[in-house]
Amino acid sequence: MFDTHAHVNFNAFKDDADQVIKRALERGVAMINVGAQFSTSKRALEMARNHERNVYAAIGLHPIHLEDFEINEEGVNFKSRKEEFDFEAYRKLGENDKVVAIGESGLDYYRLSDESRHHEIIEKQKQVFIKHTELANALILPLIVHCRGAKENMDGAYEEILAILKKHSVKNKGVMHCYIGAPNLVKKFLELGFYIGFNGVLTFDKTGRVEEVLRQTPMERILLETDCPYLTPAPKRGQRNEPMFVEFVARKAAEVIGATFEEVVEITDKNAKELFNTNS
Ligand SMILES: [Zn+2]
Repeated sequence: MFDTHAHVNFNAFKDDADQVIKRALERGVAMINVGAQFSTSKRALEMARNHERNVYAAIGLHPIHLEDFEINEEGVNFKSRKEEFDFEAYRKLGENDKVVAIGESGLDYYRLSDESRHHEIIEKQKQVFIKHTELANALILPLIVHCRGAKENMDGAYEEILAILKKHSVKNKGVMHCYIGAPNLVKKFLELGFYIGFNGVLTFDKTGRVEEVLRQTPMERILLETDCPYLTPAPKRGQRNEPMFVEFVARKAAEVIGATFEEVVEITDKNAKELFNTNS
């Protein structure tokens, strides 16, 4: 199995990251730890370098880190200072075999901090996202896209991501991670050659929307992920999420599309290896 979107590089794992990675690898779960700032991107690369195989890194600046932010992670509050996107620093970090993608980057209208500065913040997010498409092309890597719409208009942000990706196309494609947009928008991302990432939300979304998205995604474009420590799948709700729980996402996906667990594992492994050009 392949957890294509993990954050074992985050503080939630600061005391036991090694054990968490070890037990995933022992169960045959490969992973990409995804950076959200320069510091966590660097840590993701260090973790990948400490393992001969099956642990990879993605580097990028998440849209919420463009502003000072109060973060609540696993009940622990900490302040995150805003970061400017340093293209050259990220490019240098990305010149390493273990870096297999750029991201996560994108648009997040859900957690906009300052009401009076919405327009300015959104413009900044778009500019930084465009720079990530340029970085992906400079390093010939795929892009991991984060998108979360405003409460009152969930799909608006997806439309804007689409418009940007059409204008600033990414040669090596990418993935819409944790896609929770409208099912009828999925095909537009598929047309651009993008993959769709599914995680624990599939197991607990009562609206049926994510199941519908999955049914509209061809098998050869499905990726599995955890987004750990967040979004713990059923039946582990209430616990901290971790890469080995990707198994529960695979089981649910199999049930939804009417395939066997083994078929889902086989095709999603193949998809991940193709997109991220890994040999695990
Ligand atoms: Zn993430």
